[in-house]
Amino acid sequence: MEPPKIWREKRERYLAVGIKCLDCENKSFPKSEFCTKCSSNNVKEYKLADTGKLLYFTQITQTAQEMIEYAPYIVGIVELDDTLKVTGQIVDCNLDEVKEGMSVRMVFRILARDGNEGLIRYGFKFAPS
Ligand SMILES: [Zn+2]
Repeated sequence: MEPPKIWREKRERYLAVGIKCLDCENKSFPKSEFCTKCSSNNVKEYKLADTGKLLYFTQITQTAQEMIEYAPYIVGIVELDDTLKVTGQIVDCNLDEVKEGMSVRMVFRILARDGNEGLIRYGFKFAPS
């Protein structure tokens, strides 16, 4: 069953939150207590841009057990419109449709299922826009 829309939106907002350093302006993801550049703790949360462009990509064929149901899959480095670079799976397209420099948008999907406890981890991936 799908969770109510408002819960889903709340969860999605939370998953796409990084930090911005108020001392040096550096942005980083995932969220942490300290700036990854200058170690300042004068940081605040910010919502990542949800669109960007694909810089590099590769196809993954050998993977960990928890990801085996998705293999082969495509992983890329995306430069978000707010300049932050993040790694993510590229979905909703075939390998021959993926091009460096193409525009992508963030989509929220299951990242992995934990085999033993059946836990589902959600996160963002990228689809052509
Ligand atoms: Zn900083």
